[in-house]
Amino acid sequence: MSKINETMMQYFEWYLPPDCKLWEKVRTQASYLETIGITSIWLPPAYKCIGGKNDTGYAVYDLYDLGEFDQKGSIETKYGTKQEYIDAIKTLKGNGLSVIADIVFNHRMGADDKEEVMATEEMVNNRNVDISEPKLIEAWTKYNFDARNNKYSDFKWNWTHFHGVDWDEKAKKKGVFKFYGKHWDNDVDKENGNYDYLMGCDIDFNNVDVSDELIKWGKWYLDTTNIDEFRLDAVKHIRADFLEKWLKTLRDQTGKELPAVGEYWTTNLISLQNYIKETDGVMKLFDVPLHYNFFNASNSGGNFDMRTILDNSLVKANPDMAVTFVDNHDTQPGQSLFSWVQDWFKPLAYAIILLRKAGLPCIFYGDYYGIPHDNIQGKKDILERLIMARKYFAYGDLRDYFDHPNIIGWTLSGDYEHTDSGMAVVMSDGAGGAKQMNVGMRLANSILYDCTGNLKETVYVDSEGNGIFYCNGGSVSVWIKKENIYE
Ligand code: CA
Repeated sequence: MSKINETMMQYFEWYLPPDCKLWEKVRTQASYLETIGITSIWLPPAYKCIGGKNDTGYAVYDLYDLGEFDQKGSIETKYGTKQEYIDAIKTLKGNGLSVIADIVFNHRMGADDKEEVMATEEMVNNRNVDISEPKLIEAWTKYNFDARNNKYSDFKWNWTHFHGVDWDEKAKKKGVFKFYGKHWDNDVDKENGNYDYLMGCDIDFNNVDVSDELIKWGKWYLDTTNIDEFRLDAVKHIRADFLEKWLKTLRDQTGKELPAVGEYWTTNLISLQNYIKETDGVMKLFDVPLHYNFFNASNSGGNFDMRTILDNSLVKANPDMAVTFVDNHDTQPGQSLFSWVQDWFKPLAYAIILLRKAGLPCIFYGDYYGIPHDNIQGKKDILERLIMARKYFAYGDLRDYFDHPNIIGWTLSGDYEHTDSGMAVVMSDGAGGAKQMNVGMRLANSILYDCTGNLKETVYVDSEGNGIFYCNGGSVSVWIKKENIYE
């Protein structure tokens, strides 16, 4: 079988019910997901968090508790037990899917005990400015993991392993408290003066014991779960050279490829490119600027200049380093980076990430299955049509027709390895219309159908490969040679 295009799926949204059933669900869906064209699955963080069964996974308490110990109110995490996690990974891999683990290193939450420590309070909007003299605070920084009882690791965290915290128990005061004698790392994002501190107990990666322990944990995690890839959380708050070292060490020690994608949340393309350079290209990055282009276009009531939809995006500047996405668990309604791409634009945005050659596209669970918490309907039907169009037909040379403020399009010529491949895509954020495009000689003298189901008409491609391709208003049409994509 010829090689197919890769498509990633983020297999969770923020408001999944805390029923401990996600590992079971993804395991039972593995074969189906492979069939529609998903090639890798990003699973949510699998470790015990401060919120126990109700925690989405980013408020990490114990990296060694994958749903095995009675900590934070339950044995299971929100998604199930350790055994169910391992079984799900095994089944996904058995179906040819690559499995991506979500790695949360920046902070810890839910300490077992507090301790007295000298700290200075920092200005919230400029963490380079002290707003107090060094003073004694009470910080929740002692992590003993009594219920785990030293299994897998006897490492106990205390204040020396952290930079600072956001709560002084003594004064019952919220703020940014930097421990005396500690410095925020410099190779982090410069928002708020220095964005090393995000939340909870901020981990100090300069501490050799910490760095050794996290490398040891990484090795344990790979041995235990047999995971294939990493998604790295909050990388702009973590010193860049630590993550570079962590990935390179694990790749050296295991001999595995261990691809990685980092979440560096910024619309500034230059910051993304600098980070890729600083980390020696060890990880791809999510294309945050492209997400905001989609968000803005979806909120412009048809007045967005669609010729600029890829402007300032990572996928345009560094296609091989970009993981493209439309929305995620942070941008969905009610979440910290709320910037939800409006419904009507979703098929257009997904066509852009799925049906062009550049970037690795990621499908969001909340778009595919819906988000019951916010009465958002799933778009399984249109997404499957687009993912399958990507799997079977999105091959060959790309030709762009970004020549009109509302209606843009592109064609793919198809190639020898993929039967009947090639396509014409046309979309409009305003009124419907048509565009003459050339799909190349492989599709010359043929009839094309709109596999989205949006238009029932057919398009004739002449002997030179030219055709006139249509789309409805605020819609996308994908013209391919097969009458029914599901055949
Ligand atoms: Ca940090």
